[in-house]
Amino acid sequence: MKDILKFIKYLSLPMAVITTAALLFFNISRLPLSITLTIQYISYGFFIIGMLLSLRFNKSKVFFLCLILGISQLLLSNKTLITSDILAFLIPFNILLFSFIRERGIFTIWGKLKFLIIAVQFAFSVWLMQSIHADFRALMNHKIINFDFVDIIPISQMSVLLFLLVFIALSIKIYSKPTLMESSFIGVLIMVFIALLLKDNLLGLRIFYAMSGFLLILGVVETSYFMAYRDELTGIPARRALKESMLKLGGKYVIAMIDIDFFKKFNDTYGHDAGDEVLQMVASNLAQVGGGGKAFRFGGEEFTILFPNKTREAALPLLEELRKSVAKQKLPYKKKSKGKGKVVTKQLSVTISIGVAEKNESLKTSEEVLKAADKALYKAKKNGRNCVCK
Ligand code: GH3
Ligand code: MG
Ligand code: MG
Repeated sequence: MKDILKFIKYLSLPMAVITTAALLFFNISRLPLSITLTIQYISYGFFIIGMLLSLRFNKSKVFFLCLILGISQLLLSNKTLITSDILAFLIPFNILLFSFIRERGIFTIWGKLKFLIIAVQFAFSVWLMQSIHADFRALMNHKIINFDFVDIIPISQMSVLLFLLVFIALSIKIYSKPTLMESSFIGVLIMVFIALLLKDNLLGLRIFYAMSGFLLILGVVETSYFMAYRDELTGIPARRALKESMLKLGGKYVIAMIDIDFFKKFNDTYGHDAGDEVLQMVASNLAQVGGGGKAFRFGGEEFTILFPNKTREAALPLLEELRKSVAKQKLPYKKKSKGKGKVVTKQLSVTISIGVAEKNESLKTSEEVLKAADKALYKAKKNGRNCVCK
């Protein structure tokens, strides 16, 4: 259930952009002429911005996708019958290719290879377009089911099938490991499919192409924002996000500082990787704290929770609950014992200490409250750890 909700959350941005494109398309006659005229060229602008942004943020997938979309729109504007037939194959194929190929730079040897792949496809399409190859056309328009739906869907059955397969492959990929970038690719796939259906309506085609470029730009911006504000290891917001959230606090609020007990010893005994797993486990517990609390990774094995509009007395039972739930969690640990190669399995667990402070007459700023929470944490450590102190 949690996975499905996450999947839907990641697809909400592409769906919003597709809906906007559809609204623009159906209301185009009502829009001022200046907008209609701008739409003609805006997609190329978006593709160029997308390429510049991805150069800056090193997002080669988006860079190449913008390049492919730009070229394919140029080819589609040059209306020959066969163009859309070829592109209806090449675009879904490229979206699949570039979403599965690893991110390995733009001007590296791998990037140059990708330029070459695109150039070959481009040359091949131009060659096909200039000489109508009957065999090729027959192959591309081969019917899988004996139903003439070209009247309803003006692209071949084979390419509809390819679009469908790429859609399924991308959906599985996003479902198993959701990323903002990949979910924008699925939006691009859908919009290019719609654009090809509208190939005789040049304005419609341009709207859906432009919105594809816009979605890719949003994808790069969102990913960069995500990278700056999220902690990579645990996936919860990082120190930078904490600083901004602290500025927004006002009225009454509570700050809790959390530290894993004897974590250095844990790392030394079971290794850094097992330590990283502990950090992930603790973070996911903290992220689920109730009472409107928001968890951040402060740094190292220390975390912070902000409770806006809460009193210390209201936050204490929630933190006590949290402390217990972390202590109860077991992490399986496997290690090959030296000599006989036997695998030893152990159940590991850790505890956390928590310090709490609230805003009051003497603690006026959020920094002061945070310092007081840190002091309370020190007290919890001195009191024997695995406890909450105020
Ligand atoms: P105490 O109970 O007093 O908090 O003792 P401690 O050992 O937890 O505290 P100390 O500050 O001495 O050690 C913190 C350790 O956290 C040291 C470092 O190896 C570990 N650590 C910090 N960041 C990471 C990380 O990202 N991954 C892993 N695996 N370990 C980390
Ligand atoms: Mg510490
Ligand atoms: Mg510690």
